[in-house]
Amino acid sequence: MVAGTSSKTIVTVDPDTPEAHSLRQFGLHHSSLLSPELDFADNKDPDVETITNVLTVRAAQALQQDVSSSGQSGYGVMFAFLSQFDVDADTSTVLKQVCSRCRRRVYESSDYKCTNSSCTGEHTAHDEPPDMEYSITVSLTDHTGSLELCHLLPDVAEQMLGCKAREWPNLHSAEKTNIKWIYLLERARAVIKMKRVDDRTGARCFIHVLALEKADPQQLLDQGLTGS
Ligand SMILES: [Zn+2]
Repeated sequence: MVAGTSSKTIVTVDPDTPEAHSLRQFGLHHSSLLSPELDFADNKDPDVETITNVLTVRAAQALQQDVSSSGQSGYGVMFAFLSQFDVDADTSTVLKQVCSRCRRRVYESSDYKCTNSSCTGEHTAHDEPPDMEYSITVSLTDHTGSLELCHLLPDVAEQMLGCKAREWPNLHSAEKTNIKWIYLLERARAVIKMKRVDDRTGARCFIHVLALEKADPQQLLDQGLTGS
């Protein structure tokens, strides 16, 4: 796969002009554009089961270039080691708080107010407490390199950890560490999606993990990979 020329758009404006102000306002009111977890789904996403093209890390990186320049989402299956899976670290790297109505991320510093203008009404933690959702990034590594910052979909994370997000803080750290070692440094079969997100700082390509399971030995043999 050959990457085309980059069509990345970088907007630079004088910070004191009205344009800069309206861009800032745009950013404030459209903060979803700045967060990777939003709008990952396209209407035309294929079923996970129908995604079968296998990518090495190097091929995935080339696809990432293609997606960045074309804006067309890319998909693939990777057989790679889970080289980062820090679920027993600080819960702030594992969980995020989201609006219970529209699932947009909310923050304690703004009293968990939802910034989504199309979300119904103003509400705060007092009348409607935020929900918890998993927000975990992993790295996938094979003999060709490492693909970092792959965002697990919340449902995928919940399935892997075998625990609802709101129950996660109650687990003992030893339990979390045990769960981590079920996957860490194991060969996984991961279905990934790459999607370009355009915002005022330019275009970025986010990697989402749509499904992840430990690879079974037969799959590895079929791919000419030896399990370890
Ligand atoms: Zn909301």
